[in-house]
Amino acid sequence: MSKDSWAVAVDVQEATTPSIQKLDFSKKVERVCGPRNIRGDINGNVVPDKDKDGGPRGDGESVDQAEQSLLNKLIRRSLVKNRNQVEVLQRDPTSPLFSVKTFEELRLKPELLKGVYNMGFNRPSKIQEHALPMILAQPPQNLIAQSQSGTGKTAAFSLAMLSHVNTDNKWTQCLCIAPTYELALQTGQVIEQMGTFCPDVKLAYAIRGNRMERGIKLQQQIVIGTPGTVLDWCTKYKLIDPKKITMFVLDEADVMISTQGHRDQSIRIHRQLTKECQMLLFSATFEDSVWKFAEQVVPDPNIIKLKREEETLDTIKQFYVVCKEEEDKFTSLCNLYGSLTIAQAMIFCRTRVMASWLASNLIKERHQVALLSGEMTVEQRAAVIERFKNGQEKVLVTTNVCSRGIDVEQVSLVVNFDLPVDMDGNADNETYLHRIGRTGRFGKRGFAVNMVDSKSSMDIIHQIEMHFNRKIIELDTNNVKEMERLTI
Ligand code: ADP
Repeated sequence: MSKDSWAVAVDVQEATTPSIQKLDFSKKVERVCGPRNIRGDINGNVVPDKDKDGGPRGDGESVDQAEQSLLNKLIRRSLVKNRNQVEVLQRDPTSPLFSVKTFEELRLKPELLKGVYNMGFNRPSKIQEHALPMILAQPPQNLIAQSQSGTGKTAAFSLAMLSHVNTDNKWTQCLCIAPTYELALQTGQVIEQMGTFCPDVKLAYAIRGNRMERGIKLQQQIVIGTPGTVLDWCTKYKLIDPKKITMFVLDEADVMISTQGHRDQSIRIHRQLTKECQMLLFSATFEDSVWKFAEQVVPDPNIIKLKREEETLDTIKQFYVVCKEEEDKFTSLCNLYGSLTIAQAMIFCRTRVMASWLASNLIKERHQVALLSGEMTVEQRAAVIERFKNGQEKVLVTTNVCSRGIDVEQVSLVVNFDLPVDMDGNADNETYLHRIGRTGRFGKRGFAVNMVDSKSSMDIIHQIEMHFNRKIIELDTNNVKEMERLTI
């Protein structure tokens, strides 16, 4: 297979893609669609928008679900910790409930098992323990699985597809759809890596930019792509015979249905499949809308759920600092940082303009600072987070953009330079918890400092105190002794 064709169809053994751990993902994208419009540089030196609030995503910076999902994938190195029990609802409650503790028990082809171990997986994750035997059982069973990002869903269905294909058959047997081009590529990389030792399994990417000749039939057993292109490949170009698909995987269902077009296209693809085709649906969240969609595309399912571990403020000491104005906030922050022994700190600002102002002022004070905000590409954000995780920068200044992407357990100080508020100006308790909360009772201790610069922000502190039923103590950052006493 020539190198140029890799974006179109990849031999999982030949694939020259870098390991999924690497972050030079944007280069690969260029191969297909040309250079992207990157603003700012990879070190986080971004150009703030001219308008005061930082443009359409300036205030509060709501992040696209698909982008968040991609960011999670790019920065995740290992499974997320989750001590909750997996809930399993079997379609036939009388059939025995299987779960596995080792990959050997799944009786995988040796070359696939080798690929799994080669990825550093020693044993199945919680969700995999239950999902894998169910997916691989005969006769095939449909499955709906929900668990937060990072719990091993992608690895589970990648393994399932690689195990499912019959390599003697030179046609597409497994079809997987993902909400975006980038997410499809990410999953494709997992399949490629896991299938390193499966020379006969071939993979094709049904993503924009892959122009295919009409009428030829694809020989790749696995196709991963976005709904629109997959639909075209099935109906318009007839590259795939949907009647020959025996495993259909719908990944990131919650993200998928947040785009109406994707939802409809997924249903149209689904309609062309046979009743015998095994349907698998994965989602990080499970609101009613996801559930309705899932029921529509996955008949008679087994259901597996793993609840997200609750975040708690139990191990966090919370403070507020009264400041008169922005400059004052900055001085307080410097006092605070200067007088405490802090491993790493994260500082949240409301707008990207404020974040870049703060970052540049901290840099002037000779702090090692990283800046993360919404106008950076996902790849740039991932690179900044990577550096912060590696300890290359001790302070991360950010808007809300990344608060869900970083494992805050390593961060000992979280500063709300601006308090989290909702659209109506009330306390955004969920965001507050997410910024400073830790999971589990044994989470590392940390402390949170809230900057209060007006009566309304003091009201917000009271709202937060009431909501969580936890006292937030006043801290005088001019009084080093008191700070040391309180924060020990
Ligand atoms: P999800 O799809 O739920 O977000 P992933 O399948 O992407 O989760 O897995 C999250 C991270 O954990 C990835 O870095 C992946 O390589 C790793 N991982 C997945 N399964 C295992 C396992 N059984 N053992 C160790 N690491 C795993």
